[in-house]
Amino acid sequence: MNQAVTIVGGGVMGAATACFLARDHGVRATVIERDPGYSRASSALSASSIRQQFSQPVNIRLSQWSLAFLHRLGDELEVDGMQPAIGLVEPGYLYLASAAGAQTLRRNHAIQRVAGAEIALLAPAELQARFPWLSVEGLALGALGLRGEGWFDGPALMQAFRRKAIACGARFVTAQAVGFERHGQRVHAVRCADGSVLPTETLVLAAGAWSAPLARALDIELPVRPKKRDVFVFDAPAALPGCPLVIDPGGLWFRADGPRFLAGAPPRDGDPDEPPLDAIDHGLFDEVIWPQLAARVPAFEAVRVRSAWAGYYEMNLFDHNGLAGPLPGLVNAYTACGFSGHGMQQSPAVGSALAALITGGRSDAPALTALWPQRLLEGRPLLEQNVI
Ligand SMILES: Cc1cc2nc3c(=O)[nH]c(=O)nc-3n(C[C@H](O)[C@H](O)[C@H](O)COP(=O)(O)OP(=O)(O)OC[C@H]3O[C@@H](n4cnc5c(N)ncnc54)[C@H](O)[C@@H]3O)c2cc1C
Repeated sequence: MNQAVTIVGGGVMGAATACFLARDHGVRATVIERDPGYSRASSALSASSIRQQFSQPVNIRLSQWSLAFLHRLGDELEVDGMQPAIGLVEPGYLYLASAAGAQTLRRNHAIQRVAGAEIALLAPAELQARFPWLSVEGLALGALGLRGEGWFDGPALMQAFRRKAIACGARFVTAQAVGFERHGQRVHAVRCADGSVLPTETLVLAAGAWSAPLARALDIELPVRPKKRDVFVFDAPAALPGCPLVIDPGGLWFRADGPRFLAGAPPRDGDPDEPPLDAIDHGLFDEVIWPQLAARVPAFEAVRVRSAWAGYYEMNLFDHNGLAGPLPGLVNAYTACGFSGHGMQQSPAVGSALAALITGGRSDAPALTALWPQRLLEGRPLLEQNVI
């Protein structure tokens, strides 16, 4: 199929879409990426965890499809006999609830069970028996993923998509998109900061947290903003056997990371747009995270922070869910952005489904209809309650 597709943004969403377009549909997209080192890309700074504990069925289905893809990753994205590895492990997610949150956990659990997710609801005594290192003080219920939840090397997944896309004929060019040429409802070209103009038949906007200014150049308002999230890496004197990714009722999360641990919590500074990534809020760890860690896991009383990093969630302020599908008002433009902290895990399914949508070809990935940006115009939010 000869169709000139241009993708703006070569992070995991753009790379996955380019990969499936080329591999499955013979469409060799041009991917415009301003920073081939990915120094600020969310995909390079992700905690890269995957779960099925969402409140929206479409999110569960996308993650299930993606997980199955990750299990076959070596075969799916092999290039010249080299099979990529992403170190996927599946210790599960453990959502903890106080009495106030138990009903929500039960409601979400019912939705997850219907979608085929294996999630166990555990009373405090069961939690205590299963995780002797956990304090169940103040807890009424926990929801533990028994299968299909864990974490992996996200940057390696992005690079694997990129390599496979290139091997199948996609082209990555280093340039910054600054605008578009259009006639009526059709985009004809992408204009770049270096003065180049790249003609295109189809446009995909996959610029992550920076998608809104580009959409504005097309007269479309996308409610996607760069929201900084700090991640702290720490050592603890004790190992926590079978430690899942734990989400405390207040929003604190932690998980194992090899011999170390990662933790994060909602920001405490009003969550401004695009603060510098090197402005790590170390007080967040000392004053908020560490006291909560020590209260939930007594062995975390004596932790030592080793390092920290920050990246931007590409936060969709409308409903905290991905925007994936046709851009309203245009006949040849699509987007995949705004995944609000769960885009890494959904990139395989979104890339496959979007490539099929663009080409009119086939994919057995879940349909993206529920995530189409059209819902913005209709004022119809698809609220995801489980945003970490
Ligand atoms: C701290 C943190 C933890 C996270 N944890 C998880 C997790 O546990 N699980 C999960 O699933 N997800 C997680 N995420 C979210 C996940 O990483 C993102 O959803 C995903 O990486 C988004 O990919 P993307 O390709 O849309 O965006 P990006 O990776 O940001 O890629 C967008 C690319 O577009 C380029 N670009 C932007 N503007 C232009 C332009 N004008 N011209 C050319 N190029 C441009 C950028 O340089 C960038 O490389 C986390 C994110 C962060 C920051």
